[in-house]
Amino acid sequence: MQLQSKQPHIGTTIFTVMSKLANDHGALNLSQGFPNFECSSKLIELVEKYLRKGMNQYAPLSGIQPLREIIAQKTSELYGISYHPDQEVTIVSGATEALYAAITAVVQTGDEVILLEPNYDSYEPAVRLNGGIPVYVTLTPENNYQIDWSVVKAKITEKTKLILLNTPHNPTGTVMSKDDLEQLAAIVKDTNIFIVSDEVYEHIIFDGHNHWSPIRHPELQKRTFVCGSFGKTFHVTGWKVGYCLAPQQLSEEFRKVHQWLTFSTVTPIQYALAEFLQEPDNYLSVSKFYQEKRDKFISCIQGSRFEWTPASGSFFQCVNYANITDENDLALAQRLTKEIGVASIPVSVFYHQKNDYKILRFCFAKDDQTLEIAGERLSKL
Ligand code: PMP
Ligand code: GLN
Repeated sequence: MQLQSKQPHIGTTIFTVMSKLANDHGALNLSQGFPNFECSSKLIELVEKYLRKGMNQYAPLSGIQPLREIIAQKTSELYGISYHPDQEVTIVSGATEALYAAITAVVQTGDEVILLEPNYDSYEPAVRLNGGIPVYVTLTPENNYQIDWSVVKAKITEKTKLILLNTPHNPTGTVMSKDDLEQLAAIVKDTNIFIVSDEVYEHIIFDGHNHWSPIRHPELQKRTFVCGSFGKTFHVTGWKVGYCLAPQQLSEEFRKVHQWLTFSTVTPIQYALAEFLQEPDNYLSVSKFYQEKRDKFISCIQGSRFEWTPASGSFFQCVNYANITDENDLALAQRLTKEIGVASIPVSVFYHQKNDYKILRFCFAKDDQTLEIAGERLSKL
């Protein structure tokens, strides 16, 4: 038997590779993005409550009503935009599924999809598995990864079907602005271009920045699939519960894909999240919490030879190491894991041609002691 690979150039994701290396060498794992502290005990109690209440059979395809309702209510309160909980909010098994389902709903063979790189590693394979053609716009650290919309505009052809956005951004920690939305709206107006907006770090945003989701611009809202997740917001990355917000016709197509991917999402956790979301402070307090973590990490590497622009959102801090060594970033990330016991992610993996700008990404969703020890080790380089 010979299986012809549909993804011949794809290996195992860098997150798995670096986490394994960290475990093998007993290193502090600031690579893969997940907290090393517990979620709220209230949330655990709620899951237990619904497990014991017998909420253990299939949830409806679109997700349980109370969770869809509270997500619609929260979106309306925060941004003044209405989504109908029955037709326009869908609960899925993590943002990874939301992204895959949205891309699959839209992209047909030969369609071009604009990806702003560096980008999260699941986008391109999802585009390609659907017969789409990725078209890259490269963002660089020299201007802190700002998007030059004239470059985006120049890449648009009659085959362009979709633009993928991510704000706050993994890996760079940048956020989009209102002006970005206006420039994008001027580009897509009078086109049939859709938008998939990855907003898993919506509630991890710093220094008074606003979350400028494309849904806040009417020209963009009507063509946008928002992909969200509770994993980051509530320190439960292993639960894999996320959602998609999209206008009715887009949601209908999204649900057609979702039903063949997973059909429905883990039931007791949906009930627990629906109840936990009733208290806005549970998500509104998260930005402050992570801003303190960012500041803590930065204070721990203050004496180092790294250079950085503080992250505006997400739980990642990128640093430039050009003052320390000219090794490539993958080699350095591996060496630091083995030799000083601190694992990170080399940012070149998020570029399709592995551009090496001498940047490492550190996840600061860690307890203070871990950040302090990591900072001490990194400061000796
Ligand atoms: N998008 C981005 C930008 C991410 O960092 C992640 C990582 N968790 C995901 C999507 C996937 O989210 P989930 O774990 O909910 O599938
Ligand atoms: N989003 C996480 C990160 O960027 C990892 C998710 C995963 O391991 N697939 O590190």
